Formats: sequence, structure tokens, C-alpha cells
Amino acid sequence: MTVTVALFTRDLRVHDNPALVAAHREGAAVVPLFVVDERIVGGRRSAPNRARFLAAALGELDGELRSRDGHLVVRHGDVVDVVDEVVRAVHAESVHLAEDVSWYSRRREEALRKRLAERDCLVHTHPSSITAVDPNELGPSSGRDHFAVFTPYYRRWLDTPVRRPLAAPRGMVVPPVRGEALPEFEESRADSSPQLAVGGCVTGRKLLRQWASRRSEDYASDADDLAADATSRLSPYLHFGCLSPIEVLHQVDVQSPGGAAFARQLAWRDFHHQVLAAHPEAGWRDYRPRDIRWREDPKALRAWQEGRTGFPIVDAGLRQLRAEGWMPNRARLITASFLTKTLRIDWRVGAEHFRYWLVDADVANNQLNWQWVAGTGNDTRPNRVLNPLRQAERYDPDGEYTRRWIPELRDLEGPTIHRPWRAAVPPEVYPSPIAEFNGM
Ligand code: FAD
Repeated sequence: MTVTVALFTRDLRVHDNPALVAAHREGAAVVPLFVVDERIVGGRRSAPNRARFLAAALGELDGELRSRDGHLVVRHGDVVDVVDEVVRAVHAESVHLAEDVSWYSRRREEALRKRLAERDCLVHTHPSSITAVDPNELGPSSGRDHFAVFTPYYRRWLDTPVRRPLAAPRGMVVPPVRGEALPEFEESRADSSPQLAVGGCVTGRKLLRQWASRRSEDYASDADDLAADATSRLSPYLHFGCLSPIEVLHQVDVQSPGGAAFARQLAWRDFHHQVLAAHPEAGWRDYRPRDIRWREDPKALRAWQEGRTGFPIVDAGLRQLRAEGWMPNRARLITASFLTKTLRIDWRVGAEHFRYWLVDADVANNQLNWQWVAGTGNDTRPNRVLNPLRQAERYDPDGEYTRRWIPELRDLEGPTIHRPWRAAVPPEVYPSPIAEFNGM
């Protein structure tokens, strides 16, 4: 009997999962395996919001596998050691997993290949699983190894055919193998966000269907309207692969203005992945070194992290981040620009704060968006500075979003909330601004 292993990583779903489908097709029996990598989940760089989302996502994945006569095998430890042990225990002939681009995932894949070669076990990685378009599929005609600018990439991305979503496998057989309990997460823990989204492929598909049928139409006009909360909020489900980007693309009408604008954002996601695939070191090093002198300012940094900069629109975003583990793109742009362009604090410091709190944080999207804002990344206008007052007037004209997150200013009506210093709000109620801008 041929036995295979489907190693789940950032593809926690049964629908449109190339690695799972291939493992099921090849093996008479499959071990659907998830390894809780303690270096990531419990280690120094752990992130409670993502650990909590992950615990729920594994529960939903197990439920989905059980309804197909299988179950999830969970083990804790070093991924390579655990996979090796499982391969040996069940005499697996191959291991299937999603192709990924980060420095860490590439080292993991290399180490797996090396170790399993000693056991005559093949490792197959599957593209177009974490991204809609494989990062290696699109190359610029100049012969460079990646696109450095989004617009030409997007043109090629639009012309690239995307395969149909794959059906979930049925009638799974899992060979006897030792597993451990699914990880649990104490929801009331103070270090995670009180209003965090619930993880999982069942929840994610439900949200996708609701959003595609009710809200995607208005996306083109409303995505940046902070009060409207009109974006899909699907990013954590895409991050953990509870949803496949290909399935998401097939659920929206990409011919409509809303669907097309939404698909463009998914192309941004793929764009950053192809940059990271070519430059894994962009996770920590400037993509375009620009000789910027970053400032050390612990007091200003703390004010920014805690949402007490004195600029209500900036503080609203940062408080939403802590409360929900998520922020809309416009708020991420405003807060990141404030840190890097106004306070002149290194983008790596801001990215680390986001990495800790964001439930959707990943190296490609977090680090490369930070670099984009800081002017060290792929922005063709690296010197642009977002003035938070102008941003507030444009994207929160009635102050509704800001009022939601800054309760102490709730009594300031309409746009007056964006300039509390004009209303003489005492500093013990709300801090004085820590920087100066035109239009104060
Ligand atoms: P929607 O507007 O509904 O968009 C649909 C999907 O497209 C998103 O779920 C996301 O997967 C993708 N997308 C949208 N905008 C972008 C973008 N600018 N770059 C890449 N993908 C995009 N996104 C992450 O997924 N993880 C991160 O760690 C992350 N960090 C960011 C840090 C900064 C400083 C900035 C400016 C942006 C960051 N983004 C990140 C991108 C973007 O802000 C989020 O993807 C988006 O806000 C998620 O909300 P949504 O699902 O409602 O997006």
C-alpha cells in the first residue's frame, strides 16, 4: 500500500489544496500532518493573536477532514524531525507540501529534502497554493529575476491564466500513527486581542461567500473609506491558507468594477511574494538601500505603539490593531507613514510591532509593505509623506472611524475630532500632538 504525507503549512484547508489532492491521489493512505513548530508558536518571536487563530483553524481543518473519513494528525516539535519520524513510522513514499517563498520556508524545504532523501522518500512542493500565480511563473522581459514595479507586473498577472479550484478529496484513509491533542488557546489571555476574528476554513469560506454576494460591488468606491469598513477582512484566512487565493478569485466577478479592484489587491499580494522569492533578505534588509538616518526615540515609539501620538486618525488605527489584531489598508498606510516618514523611526521597528499584533502578518506582505511606505521598497515615489490631517479629511471625513476607536474624543462632532488641539481638549484627556504638520 502506498502511503503519502500531506504536510500542511500555510494551506489549512481541504478545498483547492494542491498538496492534499496530490497526496490523496498518489497514496492509498495519507497522513494529513500539521507540525506545531515550537520555534514559531511558543518561541521568542511568538504572536498570541496568530497562535489563537491557528488553534481555531486547526480545529476546523480537523472537522473538515473527519467529514471525509480522515482526521488531522498534529505533532509538536521541529518540523524536519517530526516529518522524518512520521515517514519512518508509516513507511511513506512521499511528502507533499505547498511551495512557499520566505527564507525560513525555503530552509525548511531544503532540510526536509536532505533528510528524507536518506529514506528514499520524495518531497513534492506545489505552486499556486499560497499565491494565485506562482512567483516563478512571471518574469519580466528584461530577463531580471522579478518585477520591481507593480504596474507592469499587474499587466502580466492579468494575462496569466489561473487554474480552476480543485475539489476537496473524498474518502480519505489515514494509516495508524501517533498524534497529539489539537493546540488550545486561552481566549481571555491579556496578550491577545479581545476582538480577534475566529480562524478556520469553514468560517473563512462563509465570510467569503457573504462578502462576495453582499459587499464586493462597492469595493472599488469604498475600500479606502475607513468608516464604511468595506474591505473583505479575508487577509488572515489567506495568510493561514484557510482560503485559497484561487478560490477567492473565482468567487468574485472580476469583470465588475468592485471585483476588478479587489482582484488587483490580490495581485499586490502575489507581487510581494514574487519580490520576496527573488530577495528573501528583503524580510530584514532594505530592498533599495537609501542611506536614511533612522532616529532612536523610545518615547515617541511608545506613544505610537500605544496609540497616543496626539493625532486621532493615527491613534485610531493603532488602537484598532490592538483591539482586533487587524487594520484596514488605509490605516496601515497612515500609521506606517507616521512612524517612518514623520518620526523617522526605522521601518523594521514598526514591522516588528505589526508582526506581533497582526493576525495576518507574513514576511512578504508585512515587511514589503513597510518597505514600500518607508521608501526603501517598491514605491516609485519613495519620498511621499502622508499628512495624517489630509488623510483624515479624505478617508474619514465625518470622523466616524476615529470616534469608534478614540472614545475620549467622542463628543467632538464631525471632522472637529481630527484636530482636538483646536477644541482645547486637556492633555490628561487626550495627548498633545508629538509632531507638526501643515494644516494644524
Ligand atoms: P481587502 O482590501 O479586502 O483585499 C483583499 C486581499 O488582498 C487581502 O486580504 C490581502 O490578502 C490582499 N491585499 C490587499 N492589499 C494588499 C497590499 N497592499 N499588499 C498585499 N496584499 C494586499 N497584508 C497582509 O496580508 N499581511 C500583512 O502582514 C500586511 N502588513 C501590511 C503592513 C503595512 C504597513 C501595509 C501598508 C499593508 C500591509 N498589508 C498586509 C496589506 C493590506 O493592508 C492588508 O492585506 C489588508 O488591509 C487586509 O484587509 P482585507 O482582507 O480586508 O483586504
